[in-house]
Amino acid sequence: MKRVAWVYHPDYLLHTPPFEHPESPERLVAIADHLGRTGLIDRMVPVTPEYPEDADILSVHDREYLNKLENACRRGDLTLDAEDTYLNRHSFNVALLSAGGAVAGAKAVAEGTADRAFCAVRPPGHHAGRDVGMGFCLLNNVAVAARYLQARHGVEKVLIIDWDVHHGNGTQNIFLEDPTVFYFSIHEHPTFLYPGTGRRWEIGKGKGEGATLNVPMAPGAGDAEFRTAFEGTLEPAVERFRPEIILVSAGFDAHRDDPLADLQVTEEGFRFMTRHVLKLADRFCGGKVVSVLEGGYETSSLTSCIEIHVRELLGE
Ligand SMILES: [Zn+2]
Repeated sequence: MKRVAWVYHPDYLLHTPPFEHPESPERLVAIADHLGRTGLIDRMVPVTPEYPEDADILSVHDREYLNKLENACRRGDLTLDAEDTYLNRHSFNVALLSAGGAVAGAKAVAEGTADRAFCAVRPPGHHAGRDVGMGFCLLNNVAVAARYLQARHGVEKVLIIDWDVHHGNGTQNIFLEDPTVFYFSIHEHPTFLYPGTGRRWEIGKGKGEGATLNVPMAPGAGDAEFRTAFEGTLEPAVERFRPEIILVSAGFDAHRDDPLADLQVTEEGFRFMTRHVLKLADRFCGGKVVSVLEGGYETSSLTSCIEIHVRELLGE
């Protein structure tokens, strides 16, 4: 059995919506309950996240944006710029702790106290850009973890695999011109789904050209199409890039029961994707995988998919 870090903090529940909203603390309550009830948490390595160092956050986000976010929370603003991205007085600290969760998972894997990590964090991160929060995301958790690994653990090349059903426009933009962080995203086609980016011709810019790879899926696509993309498109790209560690933006909203999108992925699809990522990690980067929760808004499928995801990470 592999040692899998379980990264979670009760303060993640303090970021609460002021109105009816799909991204709620109940998501994490359900995940923690389910993994507890199935005995999986007992077989994981508990890791308590801490607030990240300023330098680690500032390696991704502008100081002005952080000040704006902190002030908005302190004032009691109900939303950031976008109406869909809510705030309360705790949100700034919870967002820092969410990024700190991704960092804690990365640290555990980089230092070898765990082979792999699952970070049950919120708010999610992949829509957040250098100076903007949107799409329920305030700080970009995987981006902070990627920069942390490069700055503090001598990692040069990081692969981010984003299988959330929405395109991670924030992550793409942060690393758009950076050849050292390869961003792969599979998502519902931008014509049909928020945030309206992630077309095939978006491949990075300047020195980063070729280090962004987008695979948009037509509505109705499911396990078979995802499998083809992982084997036919992702795998050859990973062979060329040769990452030293893999971060997963693990959203589970491509599931057929999710209310926010129109794809048809099942539990078995998420099992396949997890296995495939682990196989690539074993081949290229000593098995190092850090999975960071993004979306997933239907409790029953969210918890069953994460159970399978964690069982695969454990190597059962
Ligand atoms: Zn999503």
